[in-house]
Amino acid sequence: MEKTLCIIKPDAVKNSFVEEINKSIKSNGLEIINSKQIQLSKKIAEDFYSEHAERPFFSELVEFMTSDFSVVQILQGEDAISTYRKLMGATNPEEAEEGTLRARFAESLSKNAVHGSDSADSAIREIDIMSKIFD
Ligand code: GDP
Repeated sequence: MEKTLCIIKPDAVKNSFVEEINKSIKSNGLEIINSKQIQLSKKIAEDFYSEHAERPFFSELVEFMTSDFSVVQILQGEDAISTYRKLMGATNPEEAEEGTLRARFAESLSKNAVHGSDSADSAIREIDIMSKIFD
């Protein structure tokens, strides 16, 4: 069994897509073992996305991710990381395959509805960063 970190981003929470997204997650064989609605702090968002710190969109990304409530979740299942990445679709919703979460629910490249860990190392790191919010 593998675990991965999922965030339903502020655009999707505001647009009331949480239930639909979680229905898709469960119907793809993944279990939601932790879930919390929370407005992320600047410190957590900057730490979480630190690999992008030098990118031109970093401040916009942090500002958006802290702008309103997100739903932070740990998913568990067989091949949870790749299963959930496949379900999410491409980063840019215009390139996301039909039926994926980003094709269905994302507004734009910045407001792209969901996050999911992209590797086993990222999953460990991201679950560790977020673990304090589940306490
Ligand atoms: P992900 O793993 O598919 O979420 O993609 P990345 O790790 O590459 O990027 C993290 C997040 O930064 C993405 O989900 C987007 O919301 C945002 N992002 C990535 N590239 C760009 C970009 O070129 N411009 C803007 N505005 N946002 C971006």
